[in-house]
Amino acid sequence: MGPALMVRPQEEGDISMMTSQECGECGEGIAFTEEIVLLQVVHANLHDGKVLLHPVLDDEGNFLYEPYFIQFPCWEDIQDVLLDDISDTPPVQDPLGPIKCQYCKSSIRPWERCGSVTFGELHISKRAPQQAHGEQLVELGDPYIVCIGCLNLINNNITEFWDEGVHENAECDDCIHGRCWRMPACPCTCHHEDSHHG
Ligand SMILES: [Zn+2]
Ligand SMILES: [Zn+2]
Ligand SMILES: [Zn+2]
Ligand SMILES: [Zn+2]
Repeated sequence: MGPALMVRPQEEGDISMMTSQECGECGEGIAFTEEIVLLQVVHANLHDGKVLLHPVLDDEGNFLYEPYFIQFPCWEDIQDVLLDDISDTPPVQDPLGPIKCQYCKSSIRPWERCGSVTFGELHISKRAPQQAHGEQLVELGDPYIVCIGCLNLINNNITEFWDEGVHENAECDDCIHGRCWRMPACPCTCHHEDSHHG
């Protein structure tokens, strides 16, 4: 056998070329310049009227919740089911929550965990030609912000992205819905267990 053939980075603009990424919803490969969303768990903060997103990291600086690229039509399917699920649920309002969930309109306080849905396309990065693939998300428009309640509905009922769901502090679903961390103390039993919660 001769030396392995080098795979050449392909030309920008070749829309048939596949990225190394797969759709987090259906598992299909994602092509360059295909319309996708990036779903992340973030702390959202307001600065000068603009929403700033900070991915939630663990102590070592790694993502605590894996981010996912999702093909746009697959995200639309998720959205449709979510909107149906929440159609009878009133939003959870909070005077200290200036950010609103795109879907259920619940209030989100600065620095609470929530989701962000960034629209865009993967392009070949011109800045890193040597790097394998050199994939770069080119963002289109403002991200949607999704509250922690809707994130868990998606995760529990539609597509499981994160094994244990999204929590501030290992709360049960009722506590997530009630945003109990905003209260001085919560009497729910989920806060009084020794073992970790699932
Ligand atoms: Zn898909
Ligand atoms: Zn919501
Ligand atoms: Zn609870
Ligand atoms: Zn609680």
